[in-house]
Amino acid sequence: MSKLVKLSDLRLGAHNDSVLVVQEALAKAVGLDFRSGPGTFGERTRQAYAKWQHHLGFSGPQADGLPGPDSLRALGTKFGFKVQDEAAAGKVASPVPGHTVTYRYGIQNARYAAGFHTGEDYASAKGTPVVAVRDGSIQWSNDTGGAYGSWVGLRAENGRVYVYCHLSWRGVVTGQGIKAGQHLGKVGSTGNVTGPHLHFEDHPAGPFVYARTRKPMW
Ligand SMILES: [Zn+2]
Repeated sequence: MSKLVKLSDLRLGAHNDSVLVVQEALAKAVGLDFRSGPGTFGERTRQAYAKWQHHLGFSGPQADGLPGPDSLRALGTKFGFKVQDEAAAGKVASPVPGHTVTYRYGIQNARYAAGFHTGEDYASAKGTPVVAVRDGSIQWSNDTGGAYGSWVGLRAENGRVYVYCHLSWRGVVTGQGIKAGQHLGKVGSTGNVTGPHLHFEDHPAGPFVYARTRKPMW
């Protein structure tokens, strides 16, 4: 029976069985020596994973050593493990798989023009994958979000627009169709921020209007 690796378990600093399975595969694929930290996703594992991504032909931000679904499935196919991706389950638990909200919606804060926090923040390392929370299409994907930095707007099939801000990399283009769970970019710190995080907004009435948001639900 083949082993199961959960994509959302694979993040810098994590310690779990999924990491161990991936380390065993990386030992065979690129010679990773993980005796100093079996089951722990540290810098040595990240560098080995980046080698695997380069081996697959990825470059730049797509070869940063942080697993995405495509590179992980390729590794699993070659070295005998299965990948559990939230997309396959049809339900996405978080726009940043494996991460929870670190700064809530609606908190009063004079730093924002609206006077309150218009979305939910997910603090995580630069390069952490972000995913579509619902099926839909990409309404915009560009670097001209101003304070929002490099951003993506997802028009979901439920009529809402979900907004992903401060990205370090965008993997989708305007007009593209997208499925729940599909990788659409990476966490970064573009725009007006103090550190890397995803700022995630829910615009229930459709088109983006500043501060016309509610607590994100999907
Ligand atoms: Zn925020």
